[in-house]
Amino acid sequence: MNHPRSHDLFARASQLLPGGVNSPVRAFKSVGGEPFFAERAEGAYLYDVDGNRYVDYVGSWGPMIAGHAHPQVLDAVARTMRNGLSFGVPNALEVTMAEAITSIVPSCEMVRMVNSGTEATLSAIRLARGATGRNRIVKFEGCYHGHGDSFLVKAGSGALTLGLPNSPGVPGALADLTMTIPYNDFDAATRLFDDIGGEIAGLIIEPIVGNANCILPRDGYLQHLRELCTRHGALLIFDEVMTGFRVALGGAQERYGITPDLSTFGKIIGGGMPVGAFGGRRELMSQIAPSGPIYQAGTLSGNPVAMAAGLATLALIREPGFHQALEASTHTLCDGLEGAAREAGVAFHTTRAPGMFGLYFREGPIESFADAMGSDAARFGRFFHAMLERGVYLAPSAFEAGFMSSAHGEAEIAHTLEAARAAFAAIA
Ligand code: PMP
Repeated sequence: MNHPRSHDLFARASQLLPGGVNSPVRAFKSVGGEPFFAERAEGAYLYDVDGNRYVDYVGSWGPMIAGHAHPQVLDAVARTMRNGLSFGVPNALEVTMAEAITSIVPSCEMVRMVNSGTEATLSAIRLARGATGRNRIVKFEGCYHGHGDSFLVKAGSGALTLGLPNSPGVPGALADLTMTIPYNDFDAATRLFDDIGGEIAGLIIEPIVGNANCILPRDGYLQHLRELCTRHGALLIFDEVMTGFRVALGGAQERYGITPDLSTFGKIIGGGMPVGAFGGRRELMSQIAPSGPIYQAGTLSGNPVAMAAGLATLALIREPGFHQALEASTHTLCDGLEGAAREAGVAFHTTRAPGMFGLYFREGPIESFADAMGSDAARFGRFFHAMLERGVYLAPSAFEAGFMSSAHGEAEIAHTLEAARAAFAAIA
């Protein structure tokens, strides 16, 4: 595969954008080489500016659960945008979106729309601190909640990929308020709450960790955290920016039967447009301005075009059987990859939830951040390029979850597995 136009664009971009990109993982730093530039996308495929085609397992990092450029989503956007792009006064689609989210996610009696997952999580912890009158927050090693100051402490995603889990520029006094514990470790959570439970405003967690590859919760773990938070008067915050509307229609909280106090969302509810949201119990959400004193605002929040794209996507995924089909195709892909690795004699393991998966170059099981970090990242890098060369685009980091969409059908999975057999053989 040749990439002359992408190469030229990256050279120009690198002069003007830090690292040549507007979000770090896109730069291919951890896998080496240069990123390709997208020209367009359709269904399960990305097309680059040099005319190459890839089966896309990134899906814009989550929003494209119904496939790229879905006609119903594009129609909704086109229809809505003819009325104007932004009004700065309320519009009906914001109400419809709030009705959709609160009806799908019962723990959210009220929501506030924002413009990114980062805004959603930083607003949610402000609310947790304001509502409890406490300052400390608890997060988990390798979890990523956007780039808000309080979250760049042992963070996942690009921070992990680039070896920058703790960012310069975050005041130590603020970082000191963020307590970090290992995911899936029951005792560590119990001990921390026994020690300082009365000072904890909220505990924020990716219920399935998608930013340190893909780690699933142990049986009873999320329930254990629910009980600790309840006992100590701390708020349980599920960051469902990635898992929301994906691992079940009602997200991880539906899949695992847990009721968080607050939830954060993004990605799918924007259908590819910039969106986030946070929501929770009425008594908590009412404390947000202007009905309460905790300030939160946004010039473009509730943008009509973004609402239209999100609502059209939600309509598609509310079809009966959508998530079952997504789960089945995720298993087909992961079983096939494991089989191909076995044939080639490569140590390899996958983790899966409906529509998302982790790839590990080591034996399983994977239950902790330490397990995930034990994957052979250099080997992943070679596999990544061997797949890319064969027209399959995986997340360009050993520490990011992969995403499936409803557009990934038999043909796309067959192509992927054929590429994988050759790629595993090439790196064995
Ligand atoms: N929370 C989680 C769980 C995420 O995966 C992400 C982004 N991948 C964010 C928050 C931040 O969202 P955004 O990039 O839209 O700011």
